[in-house]
Amino acid sequence: MINFEPDEQQLNMRRLAQKFARNTIRPVAFEYDDAETPPWPVLAQAAQQGLMSYRYPEQYGGSGIDSVLTACLVSEEFGWGCAGIGNNLLAGDTGVLPILLNGNSEQKSRYIPQFCDKKQVRTGAFALTEPNAGSDISAIRTTAVPDGNDYVINGEKTMITAAGIADLYIIFAQLEHAGITAFIVEADSTGLSIGGTYRKTGMRASQVGSIQLKNVRVPASNRLGEEGQGFYIAMRFFEYNRPVLAALAVGVARAAYEYALEYAQKRVQFGQPVISNQAISFMLADMATEIDAARLLVWRAASLVDKNLPANAQASMAKVYATDMAVKATNNAVQILGGMGVMRDHPVEKWARDAKVLQIVEGTGQIQRMIISQLVSTGKN
Ligand SMILES: Cc1cc2nc3c(=O)[nH]c(=O)nc-3n(C[C@H](O)[C@H](O)[C@H](O)COP(=O)(O)OP(=O)(O)OC[C@H]3O[C@@H](n4cnc5c(N)ncnc54)[C@H](O)[C@@H]3O)c2cc1C
Repeated sequence: MINFEPDEQQLNMRRLAQKFARNTIRPVAFEYDDAETPPWPVLAQAAQQGLMSYRYPEQYGGSGIDSVLTACLVSEEFGWGCAGIGNNLLAGDTGVLPILLNGNSEQKSRYIPQFCDKKQVRTGAFALTEPNAGSDISAIRTTAVPDGNDYVINGEKTMITAAGIADLYIIFAQLEHAGITAFIVEADSTGLSIGGTYRKTGMRASQVGSIQLKNVRVPASNRLGEEGQGFYIAMRFFEYNRPVLAALAVGVARAAYEYALEYAQKRVQFGQPVISNQAISFMLADMATEIDAARLLVWRAASLVDKNLPANAQASMAKVYATDMAVKATNNAVQILGGMGVMRDHPVEKWARDAKVLQIVEGTGQIQRMIISQLVSTGKN
């Protein structure tokens, strides 16, 4: 039987995230969107409540809730609160998950406990993109050269979430004769500097910047996985993380839908609420339907990952559908509010800006469709 009912633990985590989104994220979402700065007090409270470490094993101080499906339930609530702040809450995973999935026990016990400290906010960054290598990951030019017991890394990374605030970076570099290789690089490593941060359309509470790597010396013990395994490490991470990002988009769309529904019920024109017009109620009907459809794709992809089954294409389906849907739903929410939709007095214009960013980050819609079409044409995930 196919079961769509979350279990007790999932419901508890969702309730915790819901409460946090309603009471702590949403009230400051617009302040941080304006300020374009990381929401440190929100992150501190999330850390305290275990919302930044619940996914990590108990042996390192986390709550040991390793289900990706649970992470999706939580992420949807974060997205409902604010996708920009939500992305900060998820940034730790971009450093920790690659270590959890590919690291050895020494690397795990060295780096993961600090991310489970409830008194301190820790965050990570996953640094793959370069000025000449965005969709085409294989084109990265950052190099790693073995030197004694170290590797020496040189290059530049661009558009990296949490650049400048991360405590550790997962850096991908080309290694001669082996190919793309991943490294754990500590933020205070000599030669690592932040080139600057970007001003963005949406998700503005989430800091994104570039990283310069000049003769950064990384001990061989910080190589993640084997030499040449970097591409696989990146793909495996995406399989885990794309459903979670897709869930963030579902949350954004749900926020816009709820707001537009209430507005359409209250706003009277021609002597009746605007929702009485089929042109408006059908837009809301489509939103409700497509939000549900996106959520089910997210849950399906996450369930496959949780069962350790191939989920590459299904994760891409969830990502492309949920983010396209969120762009459409938030734009229709703007339309339903009429002139007020584009005014900053109402939140829907922010949600539309946030949704647009989600359509691009961690692989554009075009790249997700390329992955899905491989499944369609070969039958292989
Ligand atoms: C807010 C934000 C946060 C980000 N955070 C991170 C991060 O933490 N770590 C990280 O490594 N990267 C990060 N990125 C980078 C992101 O992954 C890239 O922006 C994305 O993969 C696209 O690469 P690009 O911007 O270079 O676009 P390009 O690859 O230059 O693509 C340009 C256009 O061409 C299309 N295109 C490219 N190739 C094809 C093809 N073969 N077929 C059809 N269409 C194609 C693309 O879909 C796009 O529309 C972030 C980006 C943003 C906007």
